[in-house]
Amino acid sequence: MQFVPMLLPSLIQALANAIETDADEVTALDQAIGDGDHVINLQRGIKALMAQRDELAELDWVLAWQKIGMILMTEVGGASGSLYGTLFVAMSKAAREQPLNVQTFADIFSIGVDAVKQRGKADAGEKTMLDVLIPVAANMRLDVSDGLALIEVLENVARTAIAGMESTRDMLATKGRASFLEERSRGHIDAGAKTSQLMICALVEVLTKQLTAPA
Ligand code: ADP
Ligand code: MG
Repeated sequence: MQFVPMLLPSLIQALANAIETDADEVTALDQAIGDGDHVINLQRGIKALMAQRDELAELDWVLAWQKIGMILMTEVGGASGSLYGTLFVAMSKAAREQPLNVQTFADIFSIGVDAVKQRGKADAGEKTMLDVLIPVAANMRLDVSDGLALIEVLENVARTAIAGMESTRDMLATKGRASFLEERSRGHIDAGAKTSQLMICALVEVLTKQLTAPA
């Protein structure tokens, strides 16, 4: 499969649909242990991406990710805006330093996730979006270096994202607003972990369809 920016409009549309479908569920999660604005924050960012999707599709990935990151940083707000924005800006920077292809993508994504860790001063096990992003990045690198077929890599990405999201339920939040609740943060899935999982699964679905579509 080629890394074709032509796919960008359908990827952005898939993000919008995924967040829209589960908006109420995610809001309930953020209301339980946050301030309830996470979906509205994200939807503002996705709407801005939708408005620019044709322009974004004209760019190469390095420039598109840079622009997506900047849009998310300025439009989303909240903790998640700078974190999701950082992910894309760091991926753009990493993709400037090496050729982008299916093999290098896992490394580039991992560099993006490391930047999110630094930005949020957080790591795995703190009940955040990182509990999805870190295992997805790690497993993707392993699968790619093991030579798994792309379709299997994608399947594992979706599976890992779901497991990571679920894993936040029983964790104690030590970062972000949910940490104010201390022990009472247990028993609820983290909203950012949920939206990361939803968006990753939506992207996987588009890419899988693209891979399996008759030529
Ligand atoms: P806010 O908490 O400022 O209202 P959002 O509601 O948009 O921002 O986003 C909350 C989500 O951001 C959380 O569910 C969590 O996944 C993520 N998050 C918050 N703080 C951090 C952090 N320091 N590191 C990583 N992710 C974080
Ligand atoms: Mg919030």
